[in-house]
Amino acid sequence: SKFKDGLSKTRDALVGSVEDLFSRRKKIDEEFYEELEEILIGADVGVNTVLKLIDELRAEVKKRKIEDPKELRPVLSEKLILLLKGDENASLKMAEQGLTVILFVGVNGVGKTTTIGKMAHMFKSQGKKVLLAAGDTFRAGAIEQLEEWGRRAGVDVIKQQAGSDPAAVMFDALQAARSRGADILLCDTAGRLQNKVNLMEELNKIYRVIRREVPEAPHEVLLVLDGTTGQNALNQAKLFDEKSGLSGLVLTKLDSTAKGGIVVAIRQELKLPVKYVGLGEKMDDLQPFDSEQFVHALFA
Ligand code: GDP
Repeated sequence: SKFKDGLSKTRDALVGSVEDLFSRRKKIDEEFYEELEEILIGADVGVNTVLKLIDELRAEVKKRKIEDPKELRPVLSEKLILLLKGDENASLKMAEQGLTVILFVGVNGVGKTTTIGKMAHMFKSQGKKVLLAAGDTFRAGAIEQLEEWGRRAGVDVIKQQAGSDPAAVMFDALQAARSRGADILLCDTAGRLQNKVNLMEELNKIYRVIRREVPEAPHEVLLVLDGTTGQNALNQAKLFDEKSGLSGLVLTKLDSTAKGGIVVAIRQELKLPVKYVGLGEKMDDLQPFDSEQFVHALFA
């Protein structure tokens, strides 16, 4: 499956050591837990999450009177799946009728443009009419790069010149989406996050323009994070607070890391659903996140 291939680096790093631990150890003792803790922390699952996970495993061992490590192995998968699932809905919220607006935010280089291109391709393959909005008017080359993805995916890009007001681009894009009867508008935004106040002001202005045109929009505000950057990705996410309106996450480049456990840490720390994951640079290397498939791809 796509998950198995895309996660092969993490899988190779994890499977051997987890398999080895569960088959080599004959009993579930302190050393067993310590070794498991090390393996999971090594995969970037995050210390807090690992400690929580180990506590839950201890409780299960007691409750189910498990003695053989092999019996605990499926319990680990179960617990991980639950941690990843959370309470929120992982599928994208779409307009019941009319236009769906999805906004992408995130620092430069995390894979925002690539993700928009992949998603444009995905929706287009489903027969939807897609438009892109070149809302990153700040970074040199951002507009051209989005246009390149637009060409590849076969969808139009609404743009203004570099340096123009992103909110004005959004306004244009909404008008265009309306007059062309688009189903989905995917909006790029600037990725300079060094100044939280400016970032929030820019986002809020964009929100106001969008809401004036489509009151229930944006339907999704997706924060794109680079899965290879570990703790740094978490810090980027913390620039956004409750007021920033994030509705979900996209984690990119999971194919390039052996530390895919970061997905679990991010899921736990941020309390936002992971909606999609990037598993490569190509157009169809974007997958809706599914915690069961994810955990099974890592351990099955
Ligand atoms: P942006 O600045 O956030 O718009 O980032 P880009 O979309 O330009 O992506 C930055 C780099 O990451 C590019 O070289 C992309 O090809 C690469 N990239 C994006 N997503 C993925 C992914 O899921 N896997 C891999 N391996 N590379 C990715």
